[in-house]
Parts: sequence; structure tokens; C-alpha cells
Amino acid sequence: FVSLPAPILDGLNSEQRCAVEHGAGAAPCPPLLVIAGAGSGKTNTLAHRVAHLVVGGADPHRILLMTFSRRAAAEMTRRVERIARKVLGDRASALTGGLHWAGTFHGIGARLLRDYAERIGLDPGFTIHDREDSADLMNLVRHDLGFSKTEARFPAKATCLSIYSRCVNAGQPLDVVLGANYPWCAGWAAELKQLFAAYVEAKQRHNVLDYDDLLLYWAQVMEEPAFAQEIGSRFDHVLVDEYQDTNALQARVLLALKPDGAGLTVVGDDAQAIYSFRAATVRNILDFPKAFTPPARVITLDRNYRSTQAILSAANGVIDLARERFTKNLWTDRAEGARPLLASVRDEADQARYIVERVLDAREGGAMLKQQAVLFRTSSHSAPLELELTRRNIPFVKFGGLKFLDAAHVKDMLALLRFVQNPRDRVAGFRVMLLMQGVGPASAQKALDAITAAADPLGTLVALPAPPRAGGDWRGFVAAVQELRSGDAGWPAEIERALIWYAPHLDRIHEDAETRRADLVQLAQIASGYPSRERFLTELTLDPPDATSDQAGVPTLDDDYLILSTIHSAKGQEWKQVFVLNVVDGCMPSDLGTGTSAEIEEERRLLYVAMTRAKDDLHLVVPQRFFTHSQNAQGDRHVYAARTRFIPDRLLPLFERTSWPRVTPEAAAAAQRGPRIDINSRMRRMWT
Ligand code: ATP
Ligand code: MG
Repeated sequence: FVSLPAPILDGLNSEQRCAVEHGAGAAPCPPLLVIAGAGSGKTNTLAHRVAHLVVGGADPHRILLMTFSRRAAAEMTRRVERIARKVLGDRASALTGGLHWAGTFHGIGARLLRDYAERIGLDPGFTIHDREDSADLMNLVRHDLGFSKTEARFPAKATCLSIYSRCVNAGQPLDVVLGANYPWCAGWAAELKQLFAAYVEAKQRHNVLDYDDLLLYWAQVMEEPAFAQEIGSRFDHVLVDEYQDTNALQARVLLALKPDGAGLTVVGDDAQAIYSFRAATVRNILDFPKAFTPPARVITLDRNYRSTQAILSAANGVIDLARERFTKNLWTDRAEGARPLLASVRDEADQARYIVERVLDAREGGAMLKQQAVLFRTSSHSAPLELELTRRNIPFVKFGGLKFLDAAHVKDMLALLRFVQNPRDRVAGFRVMLLMQGVGPASAQKALDAITAAADPLGTLVALPAPPRAGGDWRGFVAAVQELRSGDAGWPAEIERALIWYAPHLDRIHEDAETRRADLVQLAQIASGYPSRERFLTELTLDPPDATSDQAGVPTLDDDYLILSTIHSAKGQEWKQVFVLNVVDGCMPSDLGTGTSAEIEEERRLLYVAMTRAKDDLHLVVPQRFFTHSQNAQGDRHVYAARTRFIPDRLLPLFERTSWPRVTPEAAAAAQRGPRIDINSRMRRMWT
């Protein structure tokens, strides 16, 4: 008899089915790579595969699912549940609820490190530094070494951190990184080496890990065969989305988890590799099959389900001009549709108006705001648009931009909680202590020196004499920290207690304390979604919530809002109508880079990623005047911009060209015919 296809496979094409069913029943399941273009259903296939595994009896607790953001991981588990429901009905959620090893590489790393902390000599109370905290610590260390004072031209703290981070993530020695990526810092090799050694030492003293450490420590643990074996055997299946954007460390971790590739599935698209500036390497995905004997099974998908043929043709046209690529062109069954618009506008203000008009048109036509997205190269590029949207009362959410958590008052509160969690976290401690009147950098440092060096940091804090001019404030602070650390208030109620301590400082420091307090109420709300202070701090640091136009906070799912996103954060997503801002040379490609051909190629892929987010309508907007930080100029300036070189003349037939505001020939002629005056001479005459 013929077995009927499981409902899970319904609607999938034959290649997708192969990927979903690959290795079914085989133990161990051989490694699998799905490499395919944008919108071909990679993520969807991965979700079906997980559902298929779970429905087939795989233990969800033993499935490790890694994606590039927590949002993507959450979306993936939701999809898995929906699919599993088709077979299991209401029993599905109980099973898919067990998929709690779903997250980012960094998030999973943080959890494993906490699990194994005692056994690897790590204090499990460690806190995690985001990039800004890390730069602050780097700066502190730099000062201590005297580099910033004696050597005025020593690289800035952010540059030092980038160099350090690249060494770690690419697994390359300092001199190689300096030579290849930071030639202008090569003269500082010896000092940088000393700085990084001191930085590592400081992190350990303060019991903090930075982002990179979450991968680096994990990779180090996996070097130890006993640990690799133990951790690897916790998972029967390890699945990774967007594999083209992983770096050398992530590949190391992955291969150490499953050296023979058993149960490993990775999916990605080399044409969408856009994170090499963070040391990601497309070699990971290209070399994946060869990493195993026998080599991994490779499945390619070439049918696109997302975009109209016209959008796909234009995107294919752009990526066809790339130097090298593995995935081949896509086709779609979808209707031809309208050609993507190349819209020429005068400047960025007009660009914003153009978009608002089109967005409102679409809304009138029945499209919701959240089915539309505006994408841009760099977060700051959306500023004129944000102004226009605010002026016109159009709600929006911004992904990947300035974060809610970057606001000073939110950082203050988090610093307090972090200090409570880990009194040796010096960057956090410094920030909190300086909030108090009468506590200056010198006394804060003195206190923190004592606390960091002590075996009992909290006891030491309690025993410290108050700085002379801080008296009552200081005692109140110590009492608050003691109380919070005791855990008596319970989580998340302790946020209220923290707020009570912080409120008077907030009022004193900020004129607009009222609105800021609303943010903190929202922070408390977010906090209540986490089981503990530690989980809250970890996950918030790793994947902060997005900024919104609404002061009152994160909109709920029912609200309608326009999506604003950097192209990097738009990865993997899709919208009916998509606008891409500043499709001009100097922005795409950016003129901030060093202009190597590898960099230019990455910028081309970035445009490809942006274009392939659109389902039905795509607008590439080209302002004729564009604000740039051109390197050869005397600072920032407006320049006359040209359409991006990634759309040369021969690709123009793939686009519809328009300019805005539209000047009809009649209107232009009328303007020529009308009465004329010479306003300048009139003005001069007024004073003569
Ligand atoms: P990206 O490279 O941008 O991450 P992707 O390859 O991961 O894209 P998905 O996001 O999984 O693609 O799928 C793109 C769209 O196509 C989604 O809306 C998805 O639901 C739809 N889709 C995928 N496979 C099928 C199919 N077999 N039948 C109908 N729709 C499909
Ligand atoms: Mg995807």
C-alpha cells in the first residue's frame, strides 16, 4: 500500500519535502545543507523540518535551533507550532513548548556557560556587557595604562574594541587583523596587545563577559573533548538558519557540537552574506559539505514564493553582476506585477514626503501599515522620515536602530540591577554611583576598587564609609542594593523597589522626568515577562527591544504601525510594499568603507537583500542631494548624488522610472510664462 503524505508536507514542493524528510528514521541523521536564494522557503522549510521531527517523536528538549535574532527564533517556534497543529491539534503546543533551546548563538552560549559555570571556573553571577559597556571598559583600561594621555593619536576606544572583536571572531592574530583591516593602527601593535591583555584581565576581575566572550568561552569549552562530548550529546538535532552570516567561532562551535555532522542542518544563501564587517565569513556555508565524510547532503531550492516576477527579475539583475556566487537565479509562479520603481526625488526631505504619500495611498487601498517597510543602510538615515511620520501622525516601529535601552534613564535602571546582580561589574557600578550627589569619579573608583578586590563584594560595600559629601544618599543606595540583592521583594516586584531608589535622581537629573518615568514603567512591564533578574538582564542585553514612535511604549500585535528597519535587521523578513532609502553612490555602496572590492561586493548583496524583502511593490528612492560624511570633504556636507552603481544603465529596463514631486510639462511651461519680478533688486532698493 502507498503511505499518504503527512499533512506537514502539504503545500511544499519536492525539494522542500526532501529537506524536511531528510534522514527521517535514520540514526544518526546525516548532515544537511539547504542553500538557496531569497524567498525560496528556506526558513519555512526549516520550520517544517522541526515540526516533522517533533511530530515524528523527536524530543523537543533535545533540539537546538539557532537563528540570527531572538525575534526570528520566536517567530520560528510559532511557525513550528502552527505546522505541528495540523497533525497533533491541541497537543502540539505542549510539544513545541518544549523547544526551549531556540535562540541566537550568543543567547544559547550564555545559557550553556551559566549551566557549566562552576565546572569551568566561572562565577555564575556574571553579567554581560553590550558594545557600549565594552567600549567603556576598554576606555577605562586604556586610561589605566596611560595610553590615552601620552599618546594622543592612539586609536579610539570603539576602534580598539572593533580590532579586539575581529581578532576574536575571525580567530586571527592581531598583526593579521591590523594588516588587513586596520592598516592605520599597525604602528600600535605592541600597545594594543598590552591593552587587550589588560582588558581580558579586567573583565575577569569584574566578573563580566562581553558579546564575543559568549562565543569564545563556548568555543574554548568545546575544545575540551569531555565537554564537547557531553554538550554535543544533549542535542539530537542542531539546526541553523542564515548560516551565511556566521563567523569562524560559530562554525567552530557548531562542528565541535557534532563533529561527524550527525543531526546537523544548516540553511542559508551566499548571495545574502552581509555581516563580513563583523567577521562573518561566507566560507562557512560554502565549505560546509566538505567538512564531513561522507560529505553533507546539499539541497538547493530555486523557486521563489515571495515576490512578483518583475521584482525578482530586477533583484536577479542586480545580483547577477556580482563577482562570484553559488546560488543560481530564482523563478516564480507569481504574476509579472509592476516593475520596481526607481523614484528620483530632490532631497531627503522630499524622499520622506514621497514615502509618506505612497504609504498613505496603500493604506487607502486597504494595505495595513505593518505590511509596508522602509529600509535603509544606516540607522541615522531614517531621521528625516521619522520627523515627517511624526508630523503626519503615522505610527512606526524602528528595528535595529537606536534602542529603547540606549536611553540614559533606562540604562541607569539597568545598571542598578546589574550592579545588584554582580557588584563587581565596574562599568555598571560606576554609572549608578555617579548618579548620587556628592559622589564623584574619584570616590566611586575608590569604592569600586575595594569592592572588586574583595572576596565578599556586598559585605565590603556595606562596610565602606560613605563619601564625605554623599552621606544620606549613599546610605540609601547601600540599603537599596542590600535589599534588592536579598531577593526579598521577589522578581519582578523588585523593579518597583529599584524605581523608588532611582526616582529622586531621575527627577533631579532630567527636566522631562515625567515621560521618562513612563519608559521605566514600561521597562517594569517588559521585566515581568522574564522568570528572573538574571534572565531579564541577559536577554535584554543580547537582544534589546526596538524603538517606537510611541512614547507609551512597544505597540501590541493589534496596533498598526509602519516598519522602519536597517537592511541588516530586515534579514529573513518580507512585506507587501518595501521602500529602500538613499539608493545612491556614497550610501550604497557606502563611502565610509575602505572601498576594497570585497566591501563593494558586500554592499551589492545588501541591496539584493533589501530588494528581495518586497512581495508586491518595491520603490528604490534616489535623492539627488544627499547628506554624506564624505572622507575627502571637510566634514559632513550635502553632495549631488548619483544613482547607485549597482544599477547601471543596462539594468534600467527592469525598472519603472519616476520623479517626484511630479512636474507635468504643462505646469513647467506655465511656470515659464507667468509674470516675473527681480526680488533681489527690490530688496536692495528698500535701503537706498
Ligand atoms: P530569505 O532568504 O529571505 O530568508 P527564505 O528562503 O527563508 O527567504 P521564507 O521566508 O521561508 O524564504 O519563505 C518566503 C515566503 O514564501 C514565505 O511567505 C513563505 O510562507 C512562502 N513559501 C515558502 N515555501 C512555500 C510553498 N511551498 N508554498 C507556498 N508558499 C511558500
Ligand atoms: Mg529565511
